[in-house]
Order: sequence, then structure tokens, then C-alpha cells
Amino acid sequence: MSQFNRRWTITVGDQTYPIFDAEIPDIWQEIAEEKGFEITGRVRDRFHLVLRHNDCGAEMVSKVFTLRTTIPVCPTCLDERRRVLCAAAGVTYLGRGHHPNYFRILLPCGHETSRQQELLERVRLGSNEIRCEECLGHRLRAEARSRDWELIGADPQGELNYRLYRHDCGHFQRVAVVNMLTGRFTCGGCSEGWTRDPSFIYAMRFVLTSGREAIKVGFSRDPQSRLRHQLITDRDQYAMLIRTIPISTGRLAIILEKKLHLRLRRRHPEAVLDRSEFGGEVRVVSELYCASIETEIMRLLDDVEIWAKAIDRRRARMARRDQRR
Ligand SMILES: [Zn+2]
Ligand SMILES: [Zn+2]
Ligand SMILES: [Zn+2]
Repeated sequence: MSQFNRRWTITVGDQTYPIFDAEIPDIWQEIAEEKGFEITGRVRDRFHLVLRHNDCGAEMVSKVFTLRTTIPVCPTCLDERRRVLCAAAGVTYLGRGHHPNYFRILLPCGHETSRQQELLERVRLGSNEIRCEECLGHRLRAEARSRDWELIGADPQGELNYRLYRHDCGHFQRVAVVNMLTGRFTCGGCSEGWTRDPSFIYAMRFVLTSGREAIKVGFSRDPQSRLRHQLITDRDQYAMLIRTIPISTGRLAIILEKKLHLRLRRRHPEAVLDRSEFGGEVRVVSELYCASIETEIMRLLDDVEIWAKAIDRRRARMARRDQRR
């Protein structure tokens, strides 16, 4: 295009500029040529030019000042260099990221992410690699699932090789990622050793942010610590241990707790709270019940206490009989 063009605007790249109808001084054209460009027009105001890059033939808008003082950077060639860098690093360049020096890229697995140019350069040299967070999360969840654990999130203690998991028994535990893969760890909530240790059946009362009072019934070796460290996600939430029943072994506690939930669900299905009501507030696997059936729950816990004692007495009797033989 030339300064005699009758159009009012010109499009360069993906932007449209008003044409600034004025002559192009020869001295500017000479400077442009020296730097590998040709001035093809003037836009916006007397300070801006359209340059065509001789190497690639693409046009760009530049300030006259920039042309005079430095070698303008051709965005088309810059993009091409980024594309080549990304390809050499094994990914696809999608464009510039939201932060300076970040590129949006497509990983070979098909996930989109963004990385710093500097990292991509190290990947190209083979001194670094790009890990897909999405694929990693997917893999860790699957590995945990296959061992009856659920991936909850990052390690609360900030250890990069650890994650927080929840066992199907309801116990939360930090586990090294590699141990979850190999299975070389035991659940602190229900492992063999623990199931022989004394335990408790407990009931706790919570006030949810909806204002509803809820009751949780469960078993734990240490109900106080379970309440403090594992159940409550918001530290200010009102929660209180309202009953603990000592049980001779963890294994018996598991059985009694299951039986209790079964009865409560069967007798008071209307009091079982919907998970959506407390999911973000109380970290539990089993049910929460509306506090309106607290009396019923306490009555069932009386039964639990009686069952537990009866079972212990029977076991003691059997043990004595075995000794006499
Ligand atoms: Zn270029
Ligand atoms: Zn991926
Ligand atoms: Zn467990």
C-alpha cells in the first residue's frame, strides 16, 4: 500500500489501524532497508509505520523511534521461533501465555497448559522435562483407587513427594506417592496391628454453615484427635464430642459401627443428610444424621455399649475354656 491509497484503514496481523496519510521520508526507508525491512505505509499518527520484514514478507506496525534506535522484532518470525522451540521440546506452541515469558502449549497427551520459555529451552536441551499435572493427578487417583484409597490433595505438610489420602475406612493419612504405588505402607486407621488395639465408638455434634445441627457416629482409636485434625475442614466450625464408648478392639469397633449405621439408615432414612449439604465442611466417608434424631442415636449407642460388653464377656469365657482344655 502507499500513501496515495484511498482506503481509510489497513489491517496488520489481526489488528486494524487508521491510515496516516503522509509521505515516507527517504531517510527512513534507508534505515529500514539497512535493518532488513521495507516501510509500506504510515498508520495511526506521525509516530507509527507499517514495516514489511524482508526475511518472511510479513507486515508489522512499529514506532519510527524504534526503527531508528533498534532493530525491530518481527512478531511473525518471533512466533515462528517459538513454534520451533516448542516442537524441539516435544510440544505444540499455541500462543503467548497470560504471564510474560509464558507460552500456551499442547502436551503430547492432549492436555493444554502453559510454561516458561526458559523451561522449554531446558527441555529442548534434555536437562528438564514437562510433567502434565492433569495426567499425574489422574494417575495418582487411579493408583490410590486400586488400593482402596482416595486422593484428597496436596500434602498438608508441603512435602512434594507426599499427598493426603483417605482410606475407605475413613482414615486420612499422608502417604508418599511411591509408597501408594508399591503398597509399602499400612493404614493408621484399620491396619492389622490397629484392629487388635482398643478403640472407641463415638458420636460428634456439628453445626453446619447452613445452620443445621448434624451428628456423626464413627469409630476411632483417638476420637479427640480425629475431631480436631481430620474431620473439620473449617477450624472455626462448631463441633463437639458428645459420646465415646470404649471398645476392646478396633476390629469389633468396625463391626459395631457398621451395624449402627445400618440400623440408623433403616429406621431413619429421612434423617440421613445429603452429602451436598456438608461435603465441603466435614470430611467423612459415612453418613451424617440430622440432630433431630439425637435421642434415637443415643439409645442405639446404649445398645452398642451392651453388645460390646456382651461380646467381650463371651470372648473372655471362650478364652478361659480354651485355656482349660
Ligand atoms: Zn519476519
Ligand atoms: Zn496430560
Ligand atoms: Zn483404613
